Amino acid sequence: MPYSTLQNLCIVMVETSHPGNIGSAARAMKTMGIRDLRLVSPRKPYSQETWALASGANDIVEQAKITPSLPEALADCQYVIGASARSERTLQWPQLDARECGQHVAQHLAQQKIALVFGRERTGLSNEELEHCNALVHIPMAFDYLSLNIAMAVQVLSYECAMAARQAITVPAASEEGEELANAQAMEGFYVHLEQSLIDVRFLDPENPRLLMRRLRRLFGRAGVTVSEMNILRGMLAAFGGSKFRERA
Ligand code: SAH
Repeated sequence: MPYSTLQNLCIVMVETSHPGNIGSAARAMKTMGIRDLRLVSPRKPYSQETWALASGANDIVEQAKITPSLPEALADCQYVIGASARSERTLQWPQLDARECGQHVAQHLAQQKIALVFGRERTGLSNEELEHCNALVHIPMAFDYLSLNIAMAVQVLSYECAMAARQAITVPAASEEGEELANAQAMEGFYVHLEQSLIDVRFLDPENPRLLMRRLRRLFGRAGVTVSEMNILRGMLAAFGGSKFRERA
């Protein structure tokens, strides 16, 4: 797979504080053949530093899509990988290291739009934001208490994706895995429908939701729901709602 086929991969940066980091990340992307940069509510406007550090990757910054929220940035993506400076989280998401992340991306990119999401310089990604991810990637470091500069993390993961893409044996489109996956927007619509249905049947207490929705997101995120499976799930929820309505009537 040549470098240019990384066009289905996008880099998402959440609430970046230092405009210089946006320029450095754009440069890191461009050197590896990745062009699609999405910025969720950057904290400051582009500065001289942005353009100085972008150095030759100004076009990536100029074309970057800016969105107010993470779900909007991810709407058309079918697989979302969150980059985390920490190797442990209380509720475990599937964990990849940088090399496995590259391999996953290279193997699935022909069939899926994939996003790599990077957190804030100080605080990373919130648990709520991680709920939008199907998996996490952590670049192993010598010391757990340190983290990489965000643009360096973008560089390492972009490099791994590019290297793996060069060697990738892609999953044939005719296989089951070649079936189109539901995108993040469809998944979000489903979670809203599912949550409301669970509240309606009193399985979920909105006053005391615990971790139910997060666990269900993990479950469905792991499953890799296809478009046709999503239609079945939505149809089932609608039918459950309908039968409840008929009982009441
Ligand atoms: N103190 C923050 C560090 C954020 S560093 C925290 O504990 O989360 C800013 C971003 O760079 C992170 O959100 C992550 O997306 C990326 N990053 C930094 N180091 C990384 C690593 N070792 N592996 C994967 N991503 C990393």
